[in-house]
Amino acid sequence: MGSLSLVKPNIHLVNLKERTMLFHVPTSGLFELDNMGRDVIDLFSNEGEVTATMIKDNLAGRYAAGELSELLEDLKSMQVIHDSTGVAAYNPEPKKIENFPLTTVVLNVNTGCNLSCTYCYKEDLTTPSAGLKMEVDTAIQSVEMLLKESPDQKQYNVVFFGGEPLSNMPLIREVVAYCERRFADLEARVDFTMTTNATLLNEELVDWFNEHRFGLTISMDGPKAMHDKNRITVGGQGTYDVVKKKVDMLLSRYTARPVGCRVTLTKGITDVETIFNHLYHDLGFAEVGFGPVTSGDIAEFNLSGEEMEKVFEGQKVLGRKYLEAALQNKNFGFGNMHQLMTDLHEGTKKQLPCGAGVGLLAVDKEGGLNLCHRFTGSDQPLFGDVEKGIDKPALASFIEERLDRTGKGCETCRIRNICSGGCYHESYAKYGDPAIPSYHYCDLLRDWVDFGVEIYSQIMLENPGFFDAYVSPRRGA
Ligand code: SF4
Ligand code: SF4
Repeated sequence: MGSLSLVKPNIHLVNLKERTMLFHVPTSGLFELDNMGRDVIDLFSNEGEVTATMIKDNLAGRYAAGELSELLEDLKSMQVIHDSTGVAAYNPEPKKIENFPLTTVVLNVNTGCNLSCTYCYKEDLTTPSAGLKMEVDTAIQSVEMLLKESPDQKQYNVVFFGGEPLSNMPLIREVVAYCERRFADLEARVDFTMTTNATLLNEELVDWFNEHRFGLTISMDGPKAMHDKNRITVGGQGTYDVVKKKVDMLLSRYTARPVGCRVTLTKGITDVETIFNHLYHDLGFAEVGFGPVTSGDIAEFNLSGEEMEKVFEGQKVLGRKYLEAALQNKNFGFGNMHQLMTDLHEGTKKQLPCGAGVGLLAVDKEGGLNLCHRFTGSDQPLFGDVEKGIDKPALASFIEERLDRTGKGCETCRIRNICSGGCYHESYAKYGDPAIPSYHYCDLLRDWVDFGVEIYSQIMLENPGFFDAYVSPRRGA
């Protein structure tokens, strides 16, 4: 054996009381180290290069030679250690993208919104009167494009987005009727989802959504003072009172699926615990998730570095409550933590940050294909249209650029297979180029994922049944 060394970017160790867990970065797998494993990793951590003599001197007296060499072989095959002369493969080889397994189409049904939230990022957002509604034909063509580009799938998703999607219900009703017939004929399932500000909801609509089993997410920012700071009408009035009334009605009436809430955190609003308590405990949403704004078009709404630290601190408080509940085999509807637990549990190895451009495309009012809903109306080039289909060479070259981590900061990052360089739209907003990773609060993000690995390890060791009950397959909130 020549000398060996540790491939630091491929592991992350978590110490829990007496136990040590090894988070294996290439697979996002988690392993408990026994005494021998711990001693071997300690030796490699303390020495730049480890020789056969060093292993013999340090470990041979304590462990059987056969077991030691078996462990070293295992660690080599996992790329945790490597021959110092060789090159460790931290990342998969960049590959050619030829297939786009599209299963989700996002329809931008109206560029208009009946509210005028001060921080709204939408590129093509207009007021209700100036809103441009998608034609039903364009929506139907989008569904046909989805089927043509990606036939023979078992499950498809149609997402209604805006502006405010409830302001184009005639189109939504027609599209739902069309899809239910069309996909039933193909013996495929179709799922409908929508994010709405809730202000236009009424009982008849809620019953209709129930009938069609919509996945609903409500945009709401917390208790009255926080919500009304930014989520206002075109005339400048806070919308909390009306939204709360609608949410009460929705949550008491809607039975098809759990209803989630999406909170946008902006400058000056960092108290995630208070916001969560109100939305989860007082109002009764099944799950509450936070989206911090860090690189919006309107710089004055972006959270500062210090504010982001506060947000992550608050998320950790909620994360500990999530752990407490999980150890009692109960679910706690903190969406950000639940998503991280799901990623870790499924051993998610994300080469890309999200499905945008691969499994999902967003259609704008004119039928143009965009990476996702946040790009509709932007000055980014389109990737085809619903008539001609996907511009595959253009989309492939974009995705391939993001897949190739060579020479980028993400190449050796320990959370590279969970973060994968971050949201394309954030990169676009920050650097004007969605292909560059959004090196945004990387240290905070790494700290958050480390925290998640600790929580995951603890649940795994003390109540592994939690994952079967609530995480895999993911069940509601
Ligand atoms: S963007 Fe930052 S945190 Fe994310 S993978 Fe790249 S280096 Fe890591
Ligand atoms: S690019 Fe960003 S906003 Fe668009 S789907 Fe991906 S993570 Fe979401």
